[in-house]
Amino acid sequence: MVKSWLGQAAAIGILTTEFPRRPADPEELPAAARAPGAGPVALASLPPEVRAACPTGAISLTEIDQGKCVRCARCLPAGLVPAPDASANLGSRAGLRWPDGRPPGGTGPAPLAELGPSLHVFLVDVGSCQGCNLEVMGLANPYYDLHRLGMFFTNSPRHADVLVVVGVPTAAMVEPLRRTFEAMPAPKAVLAVGACAIDGGIFAEAPGRAAAVGEIVPVDLYVAGCPPAPVAILEGILALGRRRSRGPAP
Ligand code: SF4
Ligand code: SF4
Repeated sequence: MVKSWLGQAAAIGILTTEFPRRPADPEELPAAARAPGAGPVALASLPPEVRAACPTGAISLTEIDQGKCVRCARCLPAGLVPAPDASANLGSRAGLRWPDGRPPGGTGPAPLAELGPSLHVFLVDVGSCQGCNLEVMGLANPYYDLHRLGMFFTNSPRHADVLVVVGVPTAAMVEPLRRTFEAMPAPKAVLAVGACAIDGGIFAEAPGRAAAVGEIVPVDLYVAGCPPAPVAILEGILALGRRRSRGPAP
């Protein structure tokens, strides 16, 4: 006998994530190049081949740049610790640079309290591989269900509170991105999502790359990863509106 859709739903149960009512499950977050609390890393004494193997130059003699890190885990044999880590995903540009492989602290997002209780999000892809694009759009699926948090995608920058930018800005997209930002009413905020948007990622040296997103529009917050997980992007949007709630779940 075919069950009614109601019966099937009751049998399956609720699959929507409980984030942000509960902290993100480690399986919902991508690995970072270094877990906080794992102690300082003697970056200067790492064999040069470790830095050479990093495809984006994220490991210098003094810091790991989470904004450049694409979570490829090539540094794993050298003792760096890829681990699910929420704090590695979110920050100002300076806050994503980890001296000695540890988060610097004190450079977290500055919430924009004046954003209203209902947020409208406008997505601009300035040259992505579609990876970041898909992860952002995943927020609208039944698992992440951003509508339950009073947030919606909008098709017009005129209605948007938050501009989400993904991809490597190509020359053709510099002016459209700038105009999109200017078309948004104040108050507004910009979230740059993914290594490409932050610093070019694996396309940093590509001839078609025009600039970092932060050089075109004022970025309020960066979400690192390649691509970042939807829950990390959601955390970024929530942080912008000071709407993050991490109280104990009932
Ligand atoms: S995970 Fe990959 S991109 Fe990130 S620091 Fe290690 S080698 Fe570089
Ligand atoms: S950061 Fe990674 S997933 Fe996102 S657009 Fe760039 S290459 Fe694609």
